[in-house]
Amino acid sequence: MKQLSTGLLLWLVLFIACLPQGVKGAAGEATPANPPAEIYIIIDDMGYRPTDVAAFALPAAVTFAILPHTPQGSIFAEQAHAQARDVMLHLPMQARSDKLLGPGAITADMFAEDIARTIDDALAAVPYAIGVNNHMGSQLTASGRAMQNVMHSLKQTGLFFVDSRTTANTVAQQVARQYRVPNARRHVFLDHEHNSAFMNAQWQRMLRIAQRHGKVIAIAHPHPSSIAFLKSKLASLPADIATLRPMRDYFRQAVSYEAEYAGSATAVTSASAPQ
Ligand SMILES: [Zn+2]
Repeated sequence: MKQLSTGLLLWLVLFIACLPQGVKGAAGEATPANPPAEIYIIIDDMGYRPTDVAAFALPAAVTFAILPHTPQGSIFAEQAHAQARDVMLHLPMQARSDKLLGPGAITADMFAEDIARTIDDALAAVPYAIGVNNHMGSQLTASGRAMQNVMHSLKQTGLFFVDSRTTANTVAQQVARQYRVPNARRHVFLDHEHNSAFMNAQWQRMLRIAQRHGKVIAIAHPHPSSIAFLKSKLASLPADIATLRPMRDYFRQAVSYEAEYAGSATAVTSASAPQ
């Protein structure tokens, strides 16, 4: 019995000595825990409504994606820049449905020169843009030819591309990699249903992805309920677990466009989601 308990004690000592980093280092000193996960939030569809201005009350690390040639678009871009907030161009792209795309849209029937000119004009209308993501685009992002023309143009601008992933058939990132355009993907839509139960579930999903992979990109919209929800969630984000980051930080590592994880190939299939 005594021999057995000595053996058990020895085993326990060995077990504790072999515990992974974060508890005790080899010399006995505490080692730092994992760095907090990085959360990137993009507010899409900015520019049409004067009420979108409410989004400016969100922390400056929340990135705005602004629609080109809209009544408030250029002003919002200037004001966001003045807050040291990151601005992206929210570039309309053809959807499978006949939804109205708005001005400055890329459509499947365009030639390469039309696409290049449309992107240049859109960037002129949204000053300070450091990257682009697609507004709708369920048809266009599935077209290899169209994406080649888009990425060829983006390569000249030096901007990054975030695939909003409005279709599971998107080839946008695949083509962006071929053209060596820094790219990423949206992981979670936070608010395509405007009720707090749905938004809470998506928020938890976002946190799980962030903790598993170290970083996550979420998209929301300037709807009053979304702004109120985000304000309260971001105010109570535990800093040791997750930090909110501006999009420019996502690409600070040169390899990040290769390092996108392959998992969770989710696309939005809900009828209410942007297409
Ligand atoms: Zn959009």
